[in-house]
Amino acid sequence: MTDLFVRVAVDQPMPVLFDYRYALAGEPAVGALVEVPFGRRDVVGLICEVTSATEVPPSKLRDVTRICLECPPLSAQWIALAHFAAEYYQRGLGEVALPALPQALRDASRWNRLLAVEERFRLLPAGHDALPDALPVRAHALRRLAAALAEHELLTVSDARAMHPKASATFDDWLARGWIERAAQGEPARPDEPSSPTGGASLPQLTDEQREAVDAIAGAQGFAPFLLHGVTGSGKTEVYLHALAALLAARRDAQALVLVPEINLTPQFEAAFRQRFAALAPDSIVTMHSGLAEGERARNWLAAHTGSARIVLGTRLAILASMPNLAMIVVDEEHDPAYKQQEGLRYSARDLAVYRAKQLEIPVVLGSATPSLETWWQAEQGRYTRLTLTRRAVSDAVLPTVRLIDLEEEHRRGRASVEGLSGPLIAALKSRLERGEQSLVFLNRRGYAPILSCDACGWVAGCPRCSAYAVLHKPERALRCHHCGWESRIPKSCPDCGNIDIAPMGRGTQRVEETLASVVPGARVLRIDADSTRRKGSAQALFSDVHAGEVDILVGTQMIAKGHDFRRVTLVGVLNADTALFSHDFRASERLFAQLTQVSGRAGRAGLPGEVLIQTRYPRHALYLALSRQDYVGFANATLAERRDARLPPFVYQAMLRAEGRTLEAAIAFLEEAAAAFAPLPGADRVTVYDPVPLTIVKVFNVHRAQLLLESGSRAALQMALRAWQPVLRSLKGVLRWNVEVDPLDV
Ligand code: ADP
Ligand code: ZN
Ligand code: ZN
Repeated sequence: MTDLFVRVAVDQPMPVLFDYRYALAGEPAVGALVEVPFGRRDVVGLICEVTSATEVPPSKLRDVTRICLECPPLSAQWIALAHFAAEYYQRGLGEVALPALPQALRDASRWNRLLAVEERFRLLPAGHDALPDALPVRAHALRRLAAALAEHELLTVSDARAMHPKASATFDDWLARGWIERAAQGEPARPDEPSSPTGGASLPQLTDEQREAVDAIAGAQGFAPFLLHGVTGSGKTEVYLHALAALLAARRDAQALVLVPEINLTPQFEAAFRQRFAALAPDSIVTMHSGLAEGERARNWLAAHTGSARIVLGTRLAILASMPNLAMIVVDEEHDPAYKQQEGLRYSARDLAVYRAKQLEIPVVLGSATPSLETWWQAEQGRYTRLTLTRRAVSDAVLPTVRLIDLEEEHRRGRASVEGLSGPLIAALKSRLERGEQSLVFLNRRGYAPILSCDACGWVAGCPRCSAYAVLHKPERALRCHHCGWESRIPKSCPDCGNIDIAPMGRGTQRVEETLASVVPGARVLRIDADSTRRKGSAQALFSDVHAGEVDILVGTQMIAKGHDFRRVTLVGVLNADTALFSHDFRASERLFAQLTQVSGRAGRAGLPGEVLIQTRYPRHALYLALSRQDYVGFANATLAERRDARLPPFVYQAMLRAEGRTLEAAIAFLEEAAAAFAPLPGADRVTVYDPVPLTIVKVFNVHRAQLLLESGSRAALQMALRAWQPVLRSLKGVLRWNVEVDPLDV
């Protein structure tokens, strides 16, 4: 018998595979997971090749210690996808492939439990009544456990153990008392919404535009990228649902992947999908996002990997799910910056979706009311098929009217505004309250006030670890740094001069919430932002209060802008949007337009006329004018023309090298050295290298940051030079960390 060797990808910042001797029983397969010794540790790796020869001398060769039999091997196609992502984003294959797997697969000691169906537990009415009193007030972990059970989730012991170390014994106890019971195998994790089987009378009649879009997608052959450009409320979800229904009916094994930008949007989608596809087995629809407990994440991943899940609904990380029969991809709100991973492998899930569709020769649908200019440009050139929904789907629902409130004019005419809320906005809020309709106030800044300062000496509260102001948080009675998490109590007087009149400047959501409560008496005001939704599941609860009509005015950050189908909102007020008009980031106006369109789109969705009021000092700015005409196309084409003149993406390709050093000088010196080493590389003659510059917030957590921008008209030249640059960068010293980002979003 000849010796067998395997070449294994491991999660290390090195673009090479490692050879091991394979002397275990059974055949090694490409795509199988193995445990191998690496340095002084054992790590999990992925077999990428099986061979009968190796260059590694026998004395240095080590043995595969274990092979994972519980999980079928990953397909060659999946490895090819990971390989593409690794090449494109300048990483090693293992750095892409391993982190894409659920934690339970990356830990060999847990493999034998992968397939074991874990028992799951449900809260009984007796427990529902008894538990709140039975648990000590301070038993926070136990209370969390009880709350999780009460949210109708079926919990496994391992999920429960993540919340409380002694969950297993606790469950035994609660079982004995008759407070919880074991769920039957195969029950869905959450009870289904009451539903009618597909084809029932509850299906809405598609509009002509929707019908055309569905027909085009369902009739597509091979690689077929679609841009579904539909105004807010035009029923894009309905188009996805019909196209998916056609696909799943046509092929009994077909799988589909649906991406949404935000975790908060998954429940809304999941409910719609479960209802529509109620005829499928309960575990045919699974979710994939970072909010899932580890056990559920592994189960859902395996369901996708083995083909039993027909629809995977997830956030960006789901783009690397293993789906052997993937036949269609949907990317909802494709323009959303959340599709870009901002650490580790800095990939764009939207771009990978298009690559994956091309690789598999399947349709991919990119949906948005405000497509990214990259996508729009592809459609303009005819590379993507454009499907357009120009009208709202619900009969009688029309797009809201957008009005600009000129703050200068208000001031000139001596019309009072209260704490940044203009007279017309306050009047509009009051009239909604009288009519029993809901309003939404959007402001992209959380906290109470961004600045706390002393009038007497000019002192400003700053973060000691960052080059940034500390934000005043009133309900939490704290100063907080939004960059590093530093927190301290609010000083009673100026730490520099002792003056007790230190005052907040500017406004965040907390302050607006406070003001609204006093200027619109009687209104029930609710704030939704990253602070009010810190606890797991709390965003969900807050949003359902809004849907249930228990809120009159909702104030919040972009969290309230995205995707939610609020039926009773008829007024949207926008505060403080002007700052983004003058940003040095060339994408700021694109983002602002998308954000304001999104938030405006929350108004008037169910037939009641909607109105959007934007407070601004620049009512004649082209962006606002386009917005008030609901003219995305005009805005997009004008902005593309500017980008073309200025030689900016999508007309050139960019990459960014970022460095973090103990001092700014160290970071800049590293970048200068890197730039010098770049110049002679193959392809570099067609790449422009800019000077290193400090980041806008140069210091975060005592680390100084700088960046170097590279730009080229040739994607191939840029990629070639970047690839050759990697070993050089790895050999340079002097900084704490560096990373290369391809197609950076924040420049
Ligand atoms: P979008 O994602 O395009 O903003 P949604 O998919 O949320 O829009 O749809 C907006 C609303 O229109 C939803 O309440 C949806 O149920 C409804 N809707 C969609 N299609 C139709 C239709 N053909 N007839 C009636 N209502 C529809
Ligand atoms: Zn002072
Ligand atoms: Zn800080």
